[in-house]
Amino acid sequence: MHYYSLNKQAPNVSFREATIKGQAPDKGLYFPATIPTIDPLVIRNSNDYTKEELAMLVMQPYVGDTIDEKSLFRIVSETIGFDFPLVTINEQISSLELFHGPTLAFKDVGARFMSRCLGYFSQQQKGKVTVLVATSGDTGGAVANGFLGVEGVEVVILYPSGKVSPVQELQLTTCGQNIKALEVSGSFDDCQAMVKDAFMDADLNKALQLTSANSINVARWLPQQLYYFFAWQQWPDKARPPVIAVPSGNFGNICAGLLAHVSGLPVQHFIAACNVNDAVPEYLRTGSYAAKTAVPTISNAMDVGSPSNFIRVMELFGNQYETIKEKISGYTVTDELTRQTIADVYQQEGYILDPHGAVAYYALADYFSQHPEQKGFILETAHPVKFPDTVEAMIGKQLEVPAAAQHLFALEKKSVSMKASFAALKEWLLHA
Ligand SMILES: *Cc1c(COP(=O)(O)O)cnc(C)c1O
Repeated sequence: MHYYSLNKQAPNVSFREATIKGQAPDKGLYFPATIPTIDPLVIRNSNDYTKEELAMLVMQPYVGDTIDEKSLFRIVSETIGFDFPLVTINEQISSLELFHGPTLAFKDVGARFMSRCLGYFSQQQKGKVTVLVATSGDTGGAVANGFLGVEGVEVVILYPSGKVSPVQELQLTTCGQNIKALEVSGSFDDCQAMVKDAFMDADLNKALQLTSANSINVARWLPQQLYYFFAWQQWPDKARPPVIAVPSGNFGNICAGLLAHVSGLPVQHFIAACNVNDAVPEYLRTGSYAAKTAVPTISNAMDVGSPSNFIRVMELFGNQYETIKEKISGYTVTDELTRQTIADVYQQEGYILDPHGAVAYYALADYFSQHPEQKGFILETAHPVKFPDTVEAMIGKQLEVPAAAQHLFALEKKSVSMKASFAALKEWLLHA
């Protein structure tokens, strides 16, 4: 399997190179040259496979011979070493809970897979790889946890001071070892701009082997297909495939689901559920696409004005608006509706949604009001405890901190304070 750049101005690369580089030299996203087909018998008899076996069948074609089979099995098994339960909320709607990993959000899967692949590849080359990543909250923790102790890899996380939740901050500042947290006095956009400048800087690229760990990296994007296969194993009515609602920001997650579907996974319909940052729903409604300036919402992991993976969705469907529209519906959900949904679903069903899952729930319920004969599930992308202020106000009680997060409160935050300036970052990277 090789990967081409969607800007078509860079050479094709292997999975190994695509993982190490992150983005193509022409600034394009890498895309698989062929979409593998999953054997229909595997789909039909999915319950005869363990989740590790199924994950191997999905991932192996993408990795090709760049990782030997035994190592890939170890990587895949470590990546998915927790539960992905499909929990019934009511007759029509279930919740695929993707928050049972170590940092309580779905980004654990992509971050763990990528970190282990990069660790494997870095054994075969001289020198360290430095992973540079800006986070608005969840990515930082998942990346820190995924890369902790991986030899040959240094991780530098930039986060906006005072703008991440307490649990999120602890997750990314308490690891130590090969993980460094830079607390930037600025916004997430400032952090992202500093990281972008670093990738462009000749001195830094000479001194360090830099790579990014955001969802444009194929090793973070592709393993997200696995959630959808694990959900299928648990889906009770195989004759009637599910409608799937995905809370979407950068569109990596839903694009992975669409890729799984193109490979043969049965899905009735996809719903791209967005907050008011809705460039894609707007495109689905009108046929014309325009990036927007992101505005802050209570589902902050989806505050993206220009979703970087949407171009992969377009590529997957041959850039045909009509085809895309048939497969995906877009929804725009305001903060007010999101809050109301958290309150309603708790009162009526006894289920606690986080703000991102609530966006998806609202969209799916609305879709089912037009399609009462169908059933489906939301992807619940984060544990509600990551957003205690919003959720507790709506359900009227305190959330219990899950065991996986309790230990964090005993740990000491370690971060380096930094001005929101590229010069400061460069100085620190070269001399710290
Ligand atoms: C990152 C994130 C999203 C958005 O996922 P994309 O793949 O960027 O669309 C949704 N919910 C939560 C909780 C997240 O952390």
